[in-house]
Amino acid sequence: MDTRRKVRNIVTARPVTEGAGVRLRRAIGLGEPGEYDPFLLLDDFRSDEPDDYLAGFPWHPHRGIETVTYVLKGNVEHGDSTGTRGTIGPGDIQWMTAGSGIYHQEMPKGDGSGSMHGFQLWVNLPARDKMTAPRYRGVTAAEIPVVRRDDGAEIRVIAGSFGETSGPVLDVATRPTYLDVTLPGSASFSLETTRGDTVFLYAFAGEILLETERGETVTVANRNVALFGDGDALRADAGPQGGRFLLAAGSPIGEPIAWRGPIVMNTQEELRIAFDELSRGTFIKAKGEGGA
Ligand code: FE
Repeated sequence: MDTRRKVRNIVTARPVTEGAGVRLRRAIGLGEPGEYDPFLLLDDFRSDEPDDYLAGFPWHPHRGIETVTYVLKGNVEHGDSTGTRGTIGPGDIQWMTAGSGIYHQEMPKGDGSGSMHGFQLWVNLPARDKMTAPRYRGVTAAEIPVVRRDDGAEIRVIAGSFGETSGPVLDVATRPTYLDVTLPGSASFSLETTRGDTVFLYAFAGEILLETERGETVTVANRNVALFGDGDALRADAGPQGGRFLLAAGSPIGEPIAWRGPIVMNTQEELRIAFDELSRGTFIKAKGEGGA
């Protein structure tokens, strides 16, 4: 029986203005909140115009989620209520467990030529972990393992594992797999996946050929998200010029999602409490643990 995953749905990241006026593209997080369960949102902030990103994401709260920020170009200055201050540079990752509540700011600064490129993925927390103590961790580019194949393909393992190689982001509650895959022209990529997991690919350079549930071959390119149907493995082939994509896999939490802005809980009552606590100044439950 063929159990390879086929593409169920393709969407294109849409322009959104976030924070204090950052113009970015939202790849996931515009439709049904449970569509990519346990993933809630994927933002692609990429521009060669500093006016698009310098306003940044000044101090704001989060509760009930984890965020994984991955920078490819430029720098992001970061600070949060765990006491962490630092700069996320090219190839670096930060992951943050907002848990019961954190305040932070993220200020993209770009590079010497004014370019900025990064991604932020939101991963939901299951009910049992939503009010856990906040945590922040920075991981430098040098700590991210790269699998280099003989054909020139490079697979950066941010979280989870690829073959024998495990990534440095280990403590995300839902234990997702998160890879940055660069394929040379016409190279092929395969990955074994756990049946029942949600798996998607986000293309951001070149072209990637995928098989659809209708048995057709479809080409995805810059800013396309491909959501896979179920199966034990997937395959992605680069077009003649090669391609690069993020690949994320995780097991669905399967709980109700109540989401307003930076806070994602299970019920409307929990959201009401969170916003009430924000207005009363009682939102932060624990300082939590930080670390650059
Ligand atoms: Fe934030």
